[in-house]
Amino acid sequence: MIITGVETYDIRFPTSRELDGSDAMNPDPDYSAAYVVLRTDSGIDGHGFTFTIGRGNEVCRAAIDALAPFIVGQPVDDLGEFAKRLTHDSQLRWLGPEKGVIHLATAAVINAAWDLAGKVAGKPVWRLLAEMSPEQLVDLVDWRYLTDALTPDEALEILRAALPGRADRIAELERRGYPAYTTSPGWLGYDDAKLTRLAKQAVADGYRQIKLKVGGDRADDLRRLALARQVVGPDIRIAVDANQRWGVAEAIDWMTALAPYAPWWIEEPTSPDDVLGHAAIRRGLAHVTPDGGPIRVATGEHVQNRIVFKQLLQADAVDFVQIDSCRVAGVNENIAILLLAAKFGRPVCPHAGGVGLCELVQHLSMFDYVAVSGSLDDRVIEYVDHLHEHFVDPVVIVDGAYRAPSLPGFSAQMHPDTLARYRYPDGPAWS
Ligand SMILES: [Mg+2]
Repeated sequence: MIITGVETYDIRFPTSRELDGSDAMNPDPDYSAAYVVLRTDSGIDGHGFTFTIGRGNEVCRAAIDALAPFIVGQPVDDLGEFAKRLTHDSQLRWLGPEKGVIHLATAAVINAAWDLAGKVAGKPVWRLLAEMSPEQLVDLVDWRYLTDALTPDEALEILRAALPGRADRIAELERRGYPAYTTSPGWLGYDDAKLTRLAKQAVADGYRQIKLKVGGDRADDLRRLALARQVVGPDIRIAVDANQRWGVAEAIDWMTALAPYAPWWIEEPTSPDDVLGHAAIRRGLAHVTPDGGPIRVATGEHVQNRIVFKQLLQADAVDFVQIDSCRVAGVNENIAILLLAAKFGRPVCPHAGGVGLCELVQHLSMFDYVAVSGSLDDRVIEYVDHLHEHFVDPVVIVDGAYRAPSLPGFSAQMHPDTLARYRYPDGPAWS
C-alpha cells in the first residue's frame, strides 16, 4: 500500500463565543484542528489532525504540507521507519528539532498513518497496539536521546512483564471501560451558578474526579474551590489547573493558600520547559494539605517531546504524566513516553478535551493498561463534553468511564459536513 496523496484542512470551531475552554492563559480559544487525509492506492484513507486554539492553525496546516513530499509515493507498512522519516529530515529539523509547529504537524501525519493502519487491520488502534509483540512495540520508538533513562532492553522487560493478563485486561476494558474525569464544570469564564450546576451533574454522572481552572484571581479561586468542595463532598477528587500562569515561588505560595481544600493535583503550575521549576514546586507542596499530605504536580499537554518528559521523570518533578495525542509526534513518541512513565512508576493521566483529543488519547491509555503499565490505579483520562458530534466514531462515556472503541482506526475521522462547514475562513460557519 502506497500513499498517493495528502489533503490538508484548516478546521476551526467558534468555541470562544460561549467561553468554553477558557482558562487563566487562554481566555478565548476557538478549538481548531489542522486536519490531514492520507489517500492510498488501496482505497482506504487515513485521517488525523493536530490541535490548536485558533490563530496559527494555518501555520500548522502549511507545515503538514511541507511534510507531504516525505510520504507521498512511500509505503506505510513500517510505522517506526515512517515516523523517523518525518522527524529526521536535515532541513526541516532546523525549524525545531522535535518541537514547535513542525512537531505538531508531524503528530497530525503520524496519527493519520495509525488511523490508516487500524482501518487496514480492521481493529481500533488501542487493540492493534495491545496485540503487538514487545519486540514490535520497541521497534516503533525512536530511541535517540532516551537510553540514559530507559534502554530498549528495559522496555522489552516492561512489555514482557505485562504479557500475562493482556487478554483479561482487554476483556475488562470491554466490560467496564477506562475511568474518566471531567473538566466541564471548571472553565474560568463560567459563573458560580454554572460551576455549581455542572459539578453536581458530574457527580451524578458517575465521575470521581473533576477539575477547576485557577490562576486568574486568588480570591476567586478560593471561593470557587470552596464552592466546588461543598457541592461534591470530601470524597471526590478536585484537580486544579493553572495553565502555566505562575513563576515557581508564586506557584508554591498560591497553591499553599488553596491547600485547605485538598486539591488532588496542580496542573501546569509554570512553564512546561521548566523541569527544575516543577521539581521545586513539587518539593514546596509536599506537606501542605490539612493532613500534612502533598498537592501533587501534573504536566504534559505542552511538554514538547519525549526528552523533556524524560527529564521531568529523572528530576522527580511530576506525580502525573499528562500525555497529549497531538503535541508530540503522534502514537510512536507517546509509546516512548508511556514506557518512560512505567519505568519511573508514575501514572499517566492524559490531557484531552479541545477537539478530538478525547477521541485519540483514549486509545493510548487503553493500550497502556493492557500492554505497558497493566494498572488503572490513580489513572484517569480527561473528558470534556464538547464537539464530539463532529466525529464519525465519537467517544462514549458511561458511568464516568470511556467505553472501549470498537470501530477500526483511531477515531480521528470527522464528518464530511464538518470539514465543509467549519473550514476556515470560508466555510459557512465563518463566512
Ligand atoms: Mg490543562
